[in-house]
Amino acid sequence: MKVTVLSGGVGGARFTRGLRALLPDADITVVANTGDDLWLHGVRVCPDLDTLLYTLGGAVHEDQGWGRRDESRRVSDDLAAYGLGWDWFTLGDLDLATHLARTELLRAGLPLSQVMARLSERWQPGVRLLPMTDDEVETHVVLADGRELHFEEWWVRHRATLPAARFVQTDLASATPAPGVLDALAGADVVVLPPSNPVVSVGTILAIPGIRDAVRATAAPVVGISPVIGGAPVRGMADVCLTAIGVETSALAVARHYGHRPDGILDAWLVDERDADAADALRADGWAAHAVPTLMTDVPTTARIAAEALALVGRVP
Ligand code: GDP
Ligand code: CA
Repeated sequence: MKVTVLSGGVGGARFTRGLRALLPDADITVVANTGDDLWLHGVRVCPDLDTLLYTLGGAVHEDQGWGRRDESRRVSDDLAAYGLGWDWFTLGDLDLATHLARTELLRAGLPLSQVMARLSERWQPGVRLLPMTDDEVETHVVLADGRELHFEEWWVRHRATLPAARFVQTDLASATPAPGVLDALAGADVVVLPPSNPVVSVGTILAIPGIRDAVRATAAPVVGISPVIGGAPVRGMADVCLTAIGVETSALAVARHYGHRPDGILDAWLVDERDADAADALRADGWAAHAVPTLMTDVPTTARIAAEALALVGRVP
């Protein structure tokens, strides 16, 4: 069975870990958002890819959801003593090793997709981990006052408090999907949108020319899991992103934002038990929809959520 997942960082990584536990023999491809990637003092940081790598590789800082377990900050502290470094972006020492390794491979001429294949040799994530594109496409936030800044600066440094007017992706027009991405969508048995941020994770992936059309065109059913439970994002600040693009923070509004195929990209939407009324409304409109507990508290629970998502499109393992 071939499953293709369009993923951001923490939500997508946790879901994929449950999916992998449910389907140990499946051929799983994860297409990851790289819009959050940035150059920080000469190293390339790929937040969502690394969250996937560490989560699926068993090295993630579990409570935090990202970064390495048993991490230290000696390098950043020492840089700060020079009045240099990353005062708003946390880079642990072990995490920094990943960025240095990646940067060396990029400088040697490898595209990001091959770099991630190389890093995966160590972490053995048990899935094929693909960046959405090998091109440097970065999500920027255009503020209400017209200023523009990198998404991570807005999110991490300013905690999403500066009023955002819209999100844009740099150099989008010339970007192409990374090798393997379109094939993974066309050849899938099922495509899954995990509970990732609909705006700056999944939305960014879909913005890469060719990807949204490939999701709409695939013969595979497409099922999504709501990242919004009871009118709020479970963690993080996805509500601020949704508000900025004029979408209400509700399981129903996110489903309608993605839309049902053929015009939209979904066939089925799994919501939390608290949003059963959203499932009812969608079913009345011809969607496959169901309400179950969707809090990803641990791996077995997450595997059950994945099973419910697959059952919804008739692909019961
Ligand atoms: P990021 O790149 O690290 O922000 O991660 P993602 O975009 O993959 O996922 C972030 C989203 O996951 C958040 O906006 C939450 O709405 C959602 N999320 C996190 N934990 C859970 C959970 O346990 N259940 C559900 N349904 N959604 C979750
Ligand atoms: Ca992210």
